Amino acid sequence: MKTGKIANTFRIDSGKHFRLKDYDPADTGHWKSKEHATEALVQGIARTADLQDKLYAQDKWSLLLIFQAMDAAGKDGAIKHVMSGVNPQGCEVHSFKAPSPQELQHDFLWRTTCNFPERGHIGIFNRSYYEEVLVVRVHRELLSGERIPDKLASKRIWNDRFEDIRSFERHMARNGTAIRKFFLHLSKKEQKKRFLARLDEPEKNWKFSASDVHERDYWADYQDAYEDMIRNTSTKHAPWYVVPADNKWFTRLVISTVIVDTLESLNLSYPKVDEAKRKELEEAKKKLLKE
Ligand code: ATP
Ligand code: MG
Repeated sequence: MKTGKIANTFRIDSGKHFRLKDYDPADTGHWKSKEHATEALVQGIARTADLQDKLYAQDKWSLLLIFQAMDAAGKDGAIKHVMSGVNPQGCEVHSFKAPSPQELQHDFLWRTTCNFPERGHIGIFNRSYYEEVLVVRVHRELLSGERIPDKLASKRIWNDRFEDIRSFERHMARNGTAIRKFFLHLSKKEQKKRFLARLDEPEKNWKFSASDVHERDYWADYQDAYEDMIRNTSTKHAPWYVVPADNKWFTRLVISTVIVDTLESLNLSYPKVDEAKRKELEEAKKKLLKE
């Protein structure tokens, strides 16, 4: 089955009228089951591999994929599946956890900036600078740990950060980084189910952390923070995708489609061989055949 407009359905490139409650975490479009979507997902993965080869060879554009979500929304699994076909030489995954003392000595974009993908590469951020308008907003006390001068850490700080993020992403986009951002939209009910599975199944125990259940108490605050983040940082060059996350197979299908569509929009091609290079190739061939 064709993936068609699946990516556009969940794309937000202007957040003005965005409301999270308009999006259903259990949505699967017209796709009925995992089996139904498998073929499309396999094709998407093969197409990604093909396009990545050109991205790497052309060495001009880069692609940054940002993943944000509540715990157990399936970020790790989605990254693993969707990127399963790509050449690891041209792809890097970075996870961002609570900042280290050294990272806290710098501005909030510092630690991610030097991990942006180089030309020809795909970069994946498993969490990102967006935590600065999510966890830090929900737990305001984290802001004091950042030791920003009092005068600058006023109520305005979240709007300041939105503005800085928008400007920064525009700067990166203007220099050849295509940015796509995924919010894996999970329901509270499904999170509970997945946490219980982590507690009940021994091979999932390692994934469980007591602090995840604690963060669940702040569910409503997080949803508000996510909504405000999407309203304020959705742009044409760096759109958010609100990806339904209650069904992992559908989450992966949407992400895979977005990646393929984005790479296709870059009109990638292998570098052209000029006359001098063609001669060089012919000489090399002659030499090898003579051996
Ligand atoms: P994940 O929860 O992404 O699956 P994990 O369980 O391996 O990964 P954790 O130790 O939970 O890793 O680290 C992620 C935690 O770090 C999250 O709770 C996140 O909110 C927090 N974090 C990330 N960036 C920041 C930040 N800038 N300031 C404070 N906390 C942050
Ligand atoms: Mg965690």
